Amino acid sequence: MTHDRATLASQAFDDVGLSELLATDRFSHVDRADVDAAVAEFARFAAEVVAPTDRDGDRIGCRFDPATGQVTTPPGLVSAYRKLVEAGWTAVPFDLAVGGGGFPRVVGVALQEIFASANLGLSLCAALTQSAVELLSRWGTAEQQQRYVPRLLTGEWNGTMWITEPDAGSDVGAIRTTATPRPDGTYALNGTKIFISWGEHDLTDNIVHLVLARTPGSPPGTKGLSLFVVPKHHMGATGRTGEANGVRCASIEHKLGLHSSPTAVMQLDDAVGELVGPEGGGMRAMFTMMNPARLSIGLQGLSVGEAAYAEARAFAAERHQGTRVGGERGISDPIDRHPDVRRMLAQMRASLDAMRLVVYTTALHTDLAASGEQHDRDRAQDMVDLLTPIAKGWVTDLGVEVTSIGLQVHGGMGYIEETSAPQRYRDARIGPIYEGTNGIQAIDLVTRKLTRHDGDLVEGLLAEMEQDAKELSVLGDAGALTATFLCQAVTATRTASDWLRERQATSPEDALAGATPYMGMLGDLVGGWLLARRAVDRAAAEAAGADEALAVARFYALERLATVPGRLATVTGGADRLFV
Ligand SMILES: Cc1cc2nc3c(=O)[nH]c(=O)nc-3n(C[C@H](O)[C@H](O)[C@H](O)COP(=O)(O)OP(=O)(O)OC[C@H]3O[C@@H](n4cnc5c(N)ncnc54)[C@H](O)[C@@H]3O)c2cc1C
Repeated sequence: MTHDRATLASQAFDDVGLSELLATDRFSHVDRADVDAAVAEFARFAAEVVAPTDRDGDRIGCRFDPATGQVTTPPGLVSAYRKLVEAGWTAVPFDLAVGGGGFPRVVGVALQEIFASANLGLSLCAALTQSAVELLSRWGTAEQQQRYVPRLLTGEWNGTMWITEPDAGSDVGAIRTTATPRPDGTYALNGTKIFISWGEHDLTDNIVHLVLARTPGSPPGTKGLSLFVVPKHHMGATGRTGEANGVRCASIEHKLGLHSSPTAVMQLDDAVGELVGPEGGGMRAMFTMMNPARLSIGLQGLSVGEAAYAEARAFAAERHQGTRVGGERGISDPIDRHPDVRRMLAQMRASLDAMRLVVYTTALHTDLAASGEQHDRDRAQDMVDLLTPIAKGWVTDLGVEVTSIGLQVHGGMGYIEETSAPQRYRDARIGPIYEGTNGIQAIDLVTRKLTRHDGDLVEGLLAEMEQDAKELSVLGDAGALTATFLCQAVTATRTASDWLRERQATSPEDALAGATPYMGMLGDLVGGWLLARRAVDRAAAEAAGADEALAVARFYALERLATVPGRLATVTGGADRLFV
C-alpha cells in the first residue's frame, strides 16, 4: 500500500481513465510519462517549499494594519509563492493557446490536491486565481483577456471572487453593491463585501477582483446582477500597475482555521470597474468561476483529510499502549496493532480513496465536456453537473469526519496544538461552509440535478451501478458481498430519488427537508460505486493493487454502503418531522 502522493495521483489517473482522455486529439501533445513526472516534481516542490510554511501559517496567521489597510501574510509565504510563480506551476492545467501548460484539468486537480495538503490557505489563493482565468477567458473582452489573463495565468497577480455581503450570503440575489455607469464606459462601484478570501495581501503587486454588483434600474434578485472586473491598482497606459483604485481593505477576520488565507472585509468607494459579460448576466458569468471553485473546495476536504491520515498513521505506528491480542504480556505494542485503531485508520483510508475517485472523476468529465462530439460533451457535462454538489458537499463533510477520526487516533495529544491534528480538524471545517454551504449544495442537487431529463440522469447512473455490481459479484466472496451492499444501496437511493422528485411537484418543503440526508446517501453510494468500479477494472486488467482495491471496496461497503438503506426513512421523513 503506497502513500506517496505522486503515486496516489498516478493510480487515480489510471482508475478514472486518464489514458483514454490523452488518446483524444485535444491532448495528443500530452504524454502520460510527462504527466507523472510533472506531478512527482510538484509533490517534491510542495514538500520542500510549501509544507514548511504550514505551521507558522496556522500559528502566526495574517496581520492587518488598520493605519494602512495592508495585510501581511505569515512568515515564508511570500517566498514560497514567488517560487511557485517562478516555476510556472499555476499555468499547468490551461490550454496552450492561452499560454498554459496544455495539461488536462484532472492533472491540475492532482496538483491542487497536493498543494492544499501542504498549505491549505496558500493553495486557495492559486485556486481562486485559476477560476478567475476561466471566467475571464470565457466572458472577458479581447482587451480584458489580454490585460489580465497572462498575469493571472503565471500568478504574477491573483484573482478574487466577490459575492458575499453582510445581508447577502446564501441569498446572492440580496446583493446591494452598486455599479453606476461613467461617461467613459466604465462603472463606479460602491458597497461593502465581506469574507473575501485573499482580498488584500502582500504576495502580488496587483489583485484582480471579480465583483457582483447591481446597475441602476436593474430588476431585483439575481437577474439584476452584473459582473465587474475591478483591479486593486488602475492599469497604466503600458498595461503595468498604476495608481490605486477605490478598493480598500477595512479589516480581516479572526477564524477557526485556514489562517494562512486572509479573509477580508472590503470596501468599494467609487472604485472603477469594467463590465464582464452582458449587463444582467452576472450570475451566469460568475458560475464559470464558481463551478471550478466548488470542485477546488471539495478537493480541500480530500487534501486536508489526506494530510491528517499521514499524520495519524505515523503517530499510531510510534505510540505504544497496551498489549495486542496474542502479544507478549508486559510488552506494550504500537497502537496500530489494536483492532479499534486499525478500524479508525481503515475508515480514513477507504473514505479518502472514495473522495479522490469522486473528485477526479468529476474533473475528468470536465475535460471530456470540453472535447469530442457534441453528444458526448453533453453527457459529460451532465455528469459534471450531477457530481459537482457531491464533490463539494459530500467530500467536504467527509473531510471533517476524516480529520476528526485522525484527531481521535492521537488520543489526548490530538487535542493539543503541539500535534498537527487540531489544525487539520479546524482547517477542514471551512469546506462545508464556503462556496455555497453544503445545505445549498444539497438543495441544488435535489431541485436542479435530480430533476434533469425527468430524472433520467440519476436513473442512468443508478442503472450503470447495477451493471457494474454484476461484474463485481463474480470477484470471489469479497466481490459478492460488496455487490450485495451496492445493489441494496442503489435500490434505496432509487426509491428516495423517486420520492423527492414527486414531492418537489406536490410538497416542495418535504423535498427540501430531505435534501441534505439525500446528498449524504447519494454521495456514499457514488463513492462506494467508484471503489467497486476500480476493483473491477483493476481485476480485469490484472493490475497491481487489484486485491487491495477489492479489500478497500469491501471495507467501505460494510462501513458506509450498508447504512444507506437505513437512511431512506430520514430522506422521506417529510417536513413535519422538523418541528420538534
Ligand atoms: C473563511 C471564509 C472565506 C470565504 N471566502 C469568500 C470569498 O472569497 N468570496 C465570497 O464571496 N464569499 C466568501 N465567503 C462567504 C461564504 O461563501 C458564505 O459564508 C457562505 O456562502 C454562507 O453565507 P452566510 O455566511 O451569509 O450564511 P447564511 O446564508 O446566513 O446561512 C446560514 C445558515 O442557513 C442556511 N441557509 C441559508 N439560506 C438557506 C436556504 N434558502 N435554504 C436552506 N438553508 C439556508 C445555510 O446553509 C447556513 O447553514 C467566505 C466565508 C468564509 C467563512
